Amino acid sequence: MTLTKADMLNRAINRMKENSPDREFLERELFKAEAGIRGEKRLQRKFVEFYSSEPFEILWNTSLTLGNWPVQIDGLLLTQKAAIILESKNISGELHFENSTGEFYRRDSNGIKTVMDNPAVQVEKHIRFLKTWFEENKIRMRVDGLLVFTALQAELCSLPHTIRTCRHHHMIEFLFKTINEIPTGPQLSKQTLQKYRKTIESQLTPFIQKPISVQYSLDPNLFEVGIYCEACKTFNVSRLQRRWQCATCGQISANAGEEAVKDYFALFGFQANNEEIRKFLKINNRHIVKRLLSQNFISKDGSRRHSKYSLNDAEILSE
Ligand SMILES: [Zn+2]
Repeated sequence: MTLTKADMLNRAINRMKENSPDREFLERELFKAEAGIRGEKRLQRKFVEFYSSEPFEILWNTSLTLGNWPVQIDGLLLTQKAAIILESKNISGELHFENSTGEFYRRDSNGIKTVMDNPAVQVEKHIRFLKTWFEENKIRMRVDGLLVFTALQAELCSLPHTIRTCRHHHMIEFLFKTINEIPTGPQLSKQTLQKYRKTIESQLTPFIQKPISVQYSLDPNLFEVGIYCEACKTFNVSRLQRRWQCATCGQISANAGEEAVKDYFALFGFQANNEEIRKFLKINNRHIVKRLLSQNFISKDGSRRHSKYSLNDAEILSE
């Protein structure tokens, strides 16, 4: 079981009190997170067409850090001539880069203009990051980048001057063109590429998603407490005769308590004590909560009443 950003947002939205003005914001965030994942999958599927008789290595979702600076690279292609960063952006509509101002915006099918962070700037940052990271790790390679728009309904109306940019449909041709245009220098051997791949893989730092209320500075009172009943959509489940049963509709659930504990971690923090979980679950019995917290996705520090429970790091990923 792994909590992804989309899972965590789903849990937060499900617990958000009705008519809360922040609901729409979280729904937009969820939409973006899911679109991002779909875009990355599209990029990976397209990449199978990158067939080359020359050696190369491809790494997906590479998370690295320089000091406190974390970076996630969607695709990292290591070729004999250079490393090429593939950045996927799943944004639909008419897409415009204003090179005079550095702004990026899209116009949707209703003609509404939305200014967004310029993804070409992000690729530039990632190139700068990787050059430094390579230097520190004794990887001697040029670094280049390609920005790939993965939405099915996207039209590139203008392009950035700084970064090569294409739709995913054209990605493979752009990649070969990029590689061809790099001046020929010493070519790296298959063994060197494999060695560099191992160096990178040995230093991956999983990107940990912050709990939703922390990430977006949301008031804890915006969220419902109690244990959720899937059947009647209320928060009235309690422990009756060793079972989770809804006081509203009578439905019995095998894992309602466990799910509510995961909700707590997703919303508020990756560490909690028995009392905090009791309050959140609206359960008075500390022994029931203790049993609930003694599961393999949770680790325990300290003893007896001072115990702190944490969700295992590996259970929380950025996507
Ligand atoms: Zn119910």
